[in-house]
Amino acid sequence: MREGIIVAYQHRYLDGSPLDLPVGKIVCIGRNYLDHIRELNNAVPETPILFMKPATALSPLGEPIQLPKGRGECHHEVELAVLVGRELRSVDAAMAQKAVAGYGIALDLTLRDLQNELKKKGHPWETAKAFDGSCPLSPFLKPDALPEPQATDLSLQVNGTVRQHGNTRLMMVGIFELMAYISTHFTLQPGDVVLTGTPAGVAPLVPGDTLILSLADHDFTAQVA
Ligand code: ZN
Repeated sequence: MREGIIVAYQHRYLDGSPLDLPVGKIVCIGRNYLDHIRELNNAVPETPILFMKPATALSPLGEPIQLPKGRGECHHEVELAVLVGRELRSVDAAMAQKAVAGYGIALDLTLRDLQNELKKKGHPWETAKAFDGSCPLSPFLKPDALPEPQATDLSLQVNGTVRQHGNTRLMMVGIFELMAYISTHFTLQPGDVVLTGTPAGVAPLVPGDTLILSLADHDFTAQVA
């Protein structure tokens, strides 16, 4: 089953056509919307908190979402996803923007109980954040199909109820500034994905949940197995 998930994922456009880009790493920011920082009683970071998921975390959003069993609550975090089209190393925000190959919407699935334990111990978060299938990801809009990426609504409905709703203008670190900052620490390569943080409303998913992720006027349906 797990091998199937890894093999099945490929970057695609909305019309289903594959992008000629490899599947790379996913670089994420831990706290980028003030309302979400407050709901978890976290401190506002002075510099972006970065972490990564490996390519094996990716799963097409239309495939049933597999929650890890016996590891406590698994929370949804809906996030704008940015596909990197060109190598970026220590670039500025303008260069980063030119390298965007597409915009999508993703879930940064998080084993919250485990993450809280890891945080308490001062340990890295990977086992809570980077497991197989921890990043269900939509197909991508071409950059010109999202003319105002920094002023775009995103939301998540679970079983018909809006759980998370935000607008990318509420990010503390903007999309391209974030990519530039990341590129001073890790080279971003073609096919990498950047997740830009989640607004408030994170909560556990349970088997059978039906999800609708919305980015601007595009809706994507997903199902928890
Ligand atoms: Zn997140």
